[in-house]
Amino acid sequence: MKIILLGPPGAGKGTQAENISNNFNIKKISTGDLFRSHIKKNTELGKIAKEYYVKGDLVPDKIPTGMVKEWILNQTDNGWLLDGFPRNIKQAESLNMILDSINSNIDAVLLINVNTELLIKRLLNRQTIEKREDDNLNTIKNRISIYEKETNPLIDFYNEKKILCKIDGNNSIESVFNDIKNHLKNK
Ligand code: ADP
Repeated sequence: MKIILLGPPGAGKGTQAENISNNFNIKKISTGDLFRSHIKKNTELGKIAKEYYVKGDLVPDKIPTGMVKEWILNQTDNGWLLDGFPRNIKQAESLNMILDSINSNIDAVLLINVNTELLIKRLLNRQTIEKREDDNLNTIKNRISIYEKETNPLIDFYNEKKILCKIDGNNSIESVFNDIKNHLKNK
């Protein structure tokens, strides 16, 4: 099964990506985690990504697209999960091209929706625990507005392909995961 996770910052994509990957035994890639790891190690890629990351801006398409392409082409199993990619139409089109080139396709796009007030509350709370550099109020607001402008169009993009599943992310982790499992059962 090949799955994409969509949703605003703070929707719980990372948590559910972990749950799905463990429960269905499929590999996952999180572009945000990869950037954090590069930034922590201060690699050349990390130095470039950091400029965008700390402001909550999208890292230029070429970088995440290249990372995801390399990862997908290296997968030997039939299933995978993308967390944090694609984040705009251009990335989604690149992904389609990559998948076309290996005769592959996406089975499900899970959209986790959470209301904005709760998103901000969760991210500010995470800031006190994980100390992520991009979890301060200004950056959070920028990330949410970029999500609305850049990532929201992907909802129609995938809805038209009839692979979009809407998940209510306002509930508990367990209940959201149950919902996800129910959706994936029919895939
Ligand atoms: P969140 O969904 O909570 O914003 P992520 O960990 O997915 O967190 O992403 C954190 C940051 O990493 C983004 O704000 C952006 O700077 C960068 N990033 C992650 N994925 C991408 C991507 N596909 N394209 C561009 N930038 C990305």
